[in-house]
Amino acid sequence: MTGRATGAVVVLGSANADLVVRAPRLAGPGETLSATSATTGAGGKGLNQAVAAARAGARVAFAGAVGEDPHGQLLRGVLQRDGVDTALLRTDGARATGLAVVTVTDDGENSILVVPGANALDDLTDDDRRAVAAASHLVLQLERPRELVRRALRVAREHGTTTVLTPAPVSDGLDELVALTDLLVLNAGEAEELSGEPGVERAAEALSRSATTVVVTLGADGALVATGGAVVRRVPARPAAAVDTTGAGDTFAGVLVALLAEGARLERALAAATTAASLSVERPGAAASMPTRAEITAALP
Ligand code: ADP
Repeated sequence: MTGRATGAVVVLGSANADLVVRAPRLAGPGETLSATSATTGAGGKGLNQAVAAARAGARVAFAGAVGEDPHGQLLRGVLQRDGVDTALLRTDGARATGLAVVTVTDDGENSILVVPGANALDDLTDDDRRAVAAASHLVLQLERPRELVRRALRVAREHGTTTVLTPAPVSDGLDELVALTDLLVLNAGEAEELSGEPGVERAAEALSRSATTVVVTLGADGALVATGGAVVRRVPARPAAAVDTTGAGDTFAGVLVALLAEGARLERALAAATTAASLSVERPGAAASMPTRAEITAALP
């Protein structure tokens, strides 16, 4: 389409400071427990996907919101260091930056509390609309207000921008959003929950009667693709010695969109996405573990 910026991706989503506390076990009600360490990093599905796409070589703008506080500055810096355009990243003077308090135990159990904070900002600005209209792909998750997601999807549809939704966290009443989606990317549990169908194949088939293309990720088993009510393709995972699978799905989604936005066919984009996600599980962290384009290319089969 004339005037459309080839390869431009807009990610409209969440950004959180992740406060990760390591402890021997989860604290019980009323209990005070001595923890081993605490680190603050960048997270939120929107930020993670924006970083994954940018490292894979896409031109990415992140439409998000942070507070006027040190966590907000941290997240802005993380995005900018990876070359993500932050012109659409707003500072909410009234709310704090989103915060995820994550406890991880020595045997791998975890518990997470999320304070949405500035992620609750729910208006779509004129600048957001213009960017969505001009982009080749709009990428959304459900960690921002649903009404905001709905409005952005409608703007994209009006202007022929390809819509990509990773519907997490899943909740009831998402039919309209799924029907506005060109490419739905979700894991097996989310697919079963969202469709109400038992079994990942049946779930993918059911969802692909509403969204145009459905990609379900299957952990170490790779991914499958459904369109028009039928599973049409299976993609194997690249074998990996997994140490931390946090952010694997976000890496997959971000890299998939990066390749599609530069005009790659779905098959090639899926190969890059599974390769990138497998590389990310071999290293600790979410955004920190995401590979660069050169690393993805070197590991492709
Ligand atoms: P999520 O992280 O959203 O739960 P998955 O667990 O399905 O999503 O993982 C997303 C993608 O990450 C998979 O499609 C696969 O390509 C890759 N992946 C995840 N776990 C492994 C693993 N153990 N070995 C290789 N690749 C993996």
